[in-house]
Amino acid sequence: MSTILITGANRGIGLEFVKQYLGDGDKVIATCREPSKAQGLSALSGSLDVLSLDVTDIVRIREVARTLRKTAIDVLINNAGVYGPRPAPFGSIDLDDWVETVRINAMAPLKICEAFVEHIGSSKQRKIIAISSKMGSQGDNTSGGSYIYRSSKAALNAVMRSLAVDLEGRKISVAMLHPGWVRTDMGGASAAIDAEQSVRAMREVIAGLTLASSGRFYNYDGTEIPW
Ligand code: NDP
Repeated sequence: MSTILITGANRGIGLEFVKQYLGDGDKVIATCREPSKAQGLSALSGSLDVLSLDVTDIVRIREVARTLRKTAIDVLINNAGVYGPRPAPFGSIDLDDWVETVRINAMAPLKICEAFVEHIGSSKQRKIIAISSKMGSQGDNTSGGSYIYRSSKAALNAVMRSLAVDLEGRKISVAMLHPGWVRTDMGGASAAIDAEQSVRAMREVIAGLTLASSGRFYNYDGTEIPW
């Protein structure tokens, strides 16, 4: 049995990760902003702990890390994220919205990794996952726009790439995953795949992650995405 910690676990891709890992008999620590309103989580059974965590709340991140100090975490999944305001075209970018989006999508995952590095380092699997987006790829950007979201995920990738280098000595592997275009509140109803398919495929990539394949940016099907 592995222990998996997932942020933004009350809906969408995060909730699906919780369901699938619980279904396999793993222990899941699901964090979300408002556990009392997390109906999707309260409907689940299995080895599940639900803890409140707004990922931008640094004090609370440290509090949760202290609460879990005796828990070895095999896989940390930094999933919580926002798209930011839309539309936000060239000429009308609000800097406060931009900062807030980067705070949630890129800064928070690093602070969470800092707080939980000992928990991960004391586990068997030692894996850190960031749910990124192809929108953060420079090589894949031929359609322009989406300044805020694209730059926040590009920043996340830069952070995670450095983490992969810095944590190699602790035998912690790191991967950035694009979940596909997924039917969630963020992805919308006309997205290409459902959360079940996306998460099932990403779990295979996570299961196959090793130190040798650490620090890379993967599509949900395991193919690499250009930076
Ligand atoms: P949803 O909008 O369905 O869910 C987003 C989740 O993030 C919610 O649980 C939300 O919590 C949580 N969240 C947002 N801000 C915070 C915060 N400050 N603290 C804690 N939790 C927060 O999106 P998805 O499930 O689709 O997205 C999950 C991840 O996948 C994101 O990182 C997203 O960028 C990425 N992604 C999604 C794609 C898609 O097509 N769906 C494509 C590419 C990447 P709350 O309910 O409290 O708002």
